[in-house]
Amino acid sequence: MFDKILIANRGEIALRVIRACREMGIASVAVHSTADADAMHVRMADESICIGPASSTDSYLNPAAIISACEITGAQAIHPGYGFMSENARFVQMVEDHGLTFIGPSAQHIRVMGDKITAKDTMKELGVPCVPGSEGGVPDVEAAKQIGRDFGYPVIIKATAGGGGRGMKVANSEAEMERAFQTARAESKAAVGNDEVYLEKYLQRPRHIEIQVFGDGKGNAVHLGERDCSLQRRHQKVFEEAPGPCISEEERARIGAVCAKAVGDLKYSGAGTIEFLYEDGEFYFIEMNTRLQVEHPVTEAIFGVDLVREQIRVAEGYTLSFGQDDLAINGHAIEVRINAEKVPNFSPCPGKITQYHAPGGLGVRMDSALYQGYSIPPYYDSLIGKLIVHGRDRNEALSRLNRALGELIVDGVDTTIPLFHALLQEDDVLTGDYNIHWLEKWLAKDPFSAA
Ligand code: ADP
Repeated sequence: MFDKILIANRGEIALRVIRACREMGIASVAVHSTADADAMHVRMADESICIGPASSTDSYLNPAAIISACEITGAQAIHPGYGFMSENARFVQMVEDHGLTFIGPSAQHIRVMGDKITAKDTMKELGVPCVPGSEGGVPDVEAAKQIGRDFGYPVIIKATAGGGGRGMKVANSEAEMERAFQTARAESKAAVGNDEVYLEKYLQRPRHIEIQVFGDGKGNAVHLGERDCSLQRRHQKVFEEAPGPCISEEERARIGAVCAKAVGDLKYSGAGTIEFLYEDGEFYFIEMNTRLQVEHPVTEAIFGVDLVREQIRVAEGYTLSFGQDDLAINGHAIEVRINAEKVPNFSPCPGKITQYHAPGGLGVRMDSALYQGYSIPPYYDSLIGKLIVHGRDRNEALSRLNRALGELIVDGVDTTIPLFHALLQEDDVLTGDYNIHWLEKWLAKDPFSAA
């Protein structure tokens, strides 16, 4: 058993982990940059330690500072949250070399899934259906054009080491290939220092369906159904729900079993998400995230499990506390991401919170590190809260979301709250009839101009 866990993150996810620790009787250590000295995670943890200046490269992304913080405070394990160090295999190796435990999968599993080509090859071998595409990396534009001719346009050029939608470009015809190819490469080089790209058939109207999986590292694994995260802007999710409105029980059981088996065969340890595009009843693997996802609370709501607690238990060496047969879906959950951004341009909007009131009541969960008087620093991600609602069915969840959004007050900065008020007026959102391109097309119609 761990006595003390260090959380190598900030914001709502740091609070999420501190809460799990507290319920398990484990002491928590918050780390923070100088810009975050007044942040909520610092106040809520049992202990805190400053690990560097505002820039995340020098603080939340600084392995030596994080590991030193563990040694100084006597923390035995590190929970990485999402983002920052959560999918950094070198960091995991360093943590282990220092005799500490990383709460997450092995460095090897992170490495395999972090390289999207290796990830696809591995999944294909394990019987997981994949998007048709190039066999491995594509060296130059000529090779890319040849693949375009073979598969037919449109195609998408993706960075092998990509993430967060970076290094992804669509080519609709051979004429567009040169530019798309070079841009994808340059973006990837700038973001992650690696310019290898690969090609996939560009699906025209898929939904984004992802399967939550959990392994204990000993070959036991389960799935916790799917989340539909099709409402996206610039490949970034804004509205997520579980179960998926268009996934039948049979489909869930079928793809869930394939995913759980793959994770078991890999002897994968901890939480993971296998992401698919779903079109015409077929699933196509795109990538695996080897960490807790931002949208994990919708899965927690419908299954009634604490995924962070389970991550900690598995890292302690216990087997999973539930088997597949213990997991049953109860109702429907929706999460919306509240960002400090100005609609309709989504430009970041840091600043001081003059008033904050979180919604409550039956079936409402607000995960946020905001408080009245807090100043959102300009250095980090613009996510300031996640509003999660749970109802007996999708309609009840939607009414509850509407009601909870009405109670939520965030004054002092612009937020994406108006986006969700507007989305809840749309028939397609109410009926769940959308694909990954719906939101961009809707935004292109300038829905906020009349307001
Ligand atoms: P990242 O790691 O940068 O998030 P992903 O591979 O997970 O990249 O893809 C992110 C999003 O990009 C998907 O949810 C989807 O909206 C879009 N996308 C990725 N691959 C394809 C494809 N082959 N066809 C159509 N859209 C795609």
